[in-house]
Amino acid sequence: MKITMKSKYKSLTGLIFIVLNTSILLGLTFSSNEIHIDKSYEKYDFTVEPITSNYEEYIKGNFSDYECSNYTLSVFLNENTSSVVGNLTADYYNDDPVNFTQIPFHIYPSGMQYNTRPGDIDILNVTTSEDPNQELEFEVLSDIQLMWVNLTSELEPGNRTSFIISFNTTLTDGGIDRASDHGWDHNNSRIFKFGSAYPMPCVYDEYDGWNIDPYLSIGDPFYFDMAYYDLIINVPNSMTVAATGELVEKITIGNRTINHYNPRLPVREVTFSASRYFEVESYFSADANVTVSLYYLNKSSWLWHNFAVDVVGNAGSLYYVAFGNYTYPTLNIVQEYTMFGGMEYPCQVYISEAADRHSDPWWYLETIIAHEVAHQWFYNLVGVDEVDWGFLDEGVVCWVTDWYKDVFHPDWNIFEPYWGLSRLRHYSLDYGLPNKINQSVYECIDSGSNYWYIAYTKAPTILEKLRTIIGLDNFIYGLRYFTHENFFEIAQLIDLQQAFETISGETLDWFFLPWFNDPYLPKYNFTSVLYNTQSKTVNITIEDVNENLNPYSYSQQIPITIYSSGSTLEFSEFKWINGTTSLIIPIQKKPVRVVLNYTDNVLVQFSDHDLNYLETTDIIVINGQQPNIPSFNVIIILLAFSTLGIIFMTKKSKYQINN
Ligand SMILES: [Zn+2]
Repeated sequence: MKITMKSKYKSLTGLIFIVLNTSILLGLTFSSNEIHIDKSYEKYDFTVEPITSNYEEYIKGNFSDYECSNYTLSVFLNENTSSVVGNLTADYYNDDPVNFTQIPFHIYPSGMQYNTRPGDIDILNVTTSEDPNQELEFEVLSDIQLMWVNLTSELEPGNRTSFIISFNTTLTDGGIDRASDHGWDHNNSRIFKFGSAYPMPCVYDEYDGWNIDPYLSIGDPFYFDMAYYDLIINVPNSMTVAATGELVEKITIGNRTINHYNPRLPVREVTFSASRYFEVESYFSADANVTVSLYYLNKSSWLWHNFAVDVVGNAGSLYYVAFGNYTYPTLNIVQEYTMFGGMEYPCQVYISEAADRHSDPWWYLETIIAHEVAHQWFYNLVGVDEVDWGFLDEGVVCWVTDWYKDVFHPDWNIFEPYWGLSRLRHYSLDYGLPNKINQSVYECIDSGSNYWYIAYTKAPTILEKLRTIIGLDNFIYGLRYFTHENFFEIAQLIDLQQAFETISGETLDWFFLPWFNDPYLPKYNFTSVLYNTQSKTVNITIEDVNENLNPYSYSQQIPITIYSSGSTLEFSEFKWINGTTSLIIPIQKKPVRVVLNYTDNVLVQFSDHDLNYLETTDIIVINGQQPNIPSFNVIIILLAFSTLGIIFMTKKSKYQINN
């Protein structure tokens, strides 16, 4: 029942949101504020067709050939005990090339942070779907938040088996983790949040076998295959529920209401949140055929009302035209208590109520919404093993969030020169600590690397550097190719690299290998600067003092300026610095100062007294002959070797120019 269409809305290329009067259908209250979509993204010409044929089927909603597991999660929320009793009915499909006799499930809540009452999942029993009296054996390994279901016979590839797991989840009290009962009734602030809180099927892959990692406190350490879900939630009447999927049925029996949700297409997991105090705004986008709903506490109405939906609309429009269709019927933006800024789930994202207290609450709320909405593409549609490759979706999503800001807030100068440098410096974490991007959460812990810095700062900074090299169009089309090639699948770093290589037509090993795999950024030093007064050339040798600590040599363009006496500029040009590099530059006047300028996405490791440049005035003048210093012959030999090294070091790409 769609009414209240505003006549001034025209169906243009973007998403037009129309206030949807669902109050009778859903029993919700909402506000009928006007929505307008900023069309700033139309300055880009995104007109390419879907890249893969299966993606074409997806945007038509044709999933008849897609086989995956089907789950029905049926839960009953008990306010008094802060618990959720449930059944997970699994129609489990084996899409792996091995026989299974056991299937593992994560039971995460006991690993979550809490105040006084820890979270827990108590497994009550496991039975076959056909006969509730036929129990299956199961084993709980509570120290790693895991359970194994033992099958009665081997499950072969391409076959299905079905069983029901009955469980009781205790939500943490207070707590700011992914599942909690937080807030109070007396001040209308209590919210129940059910994220990562039911028995969640583990993923089998060719690298790890079963991925049975415990609940890790670093990153979003999740990894799930796509599956169809029905989500049935039984709550007290007058409690508002936000959940993954479209509300397809609502039944009230006595003082309880049963809400039945279905996301219509496969998702990686489901979640719900319930509160007696949620305010709700719902909007319908005719072009995208999606209902966007906002759920927030009254205390935050001043911030969310008339603002949040515009952010969702703008972000959704940009990602839709850039990366492809969202296609699910619903998208919920739900307020939460959390230690993070927000948390992504398919079709539903959570945003911290701490935005209220931020020094710039609008900026903060907009940033988190734009970020979490981007995860619908880079987490749900394209999946990632976030234990082994957590930097991948976070790095892409952080870059995309900055691009969103660049498109809709050009005055923020988000990609201004010094952007990468100031980002790295701002977080002050690259002062010589190893910070390889391409490593698992476990490797981060072992190597003393900071996962947050790697995933949320360094990875998007490196991606922005790539964007400046291959250009924005190639970069966006690369991300689109990556999305279309890998949607519904699990992607790795090599898939992202191959997407950019396909679009740019160039091999990018020279970029990806060092920037994603080296533990240390380059740190340059002038080895020698020799000025020959006869040939009127200056021979500059720049070394990367971190080169021996890294498996791969860096290549990047750095502006070099050379001054003669009186600070007269004699030379100013970008030069490729490929590892340790020797340059010969014609200069008429005797140079007195040579400067490497760390601008325009030049990335280097900092030390505590860093400037935005490296300079030397230590210039040796020679008159066509060897200077009278003992080390000179050694320097000449080293120069010869380093020049040879440069010639053989890297496969040149069109982006790398010979010095
Ligand atoms: Zn994220």
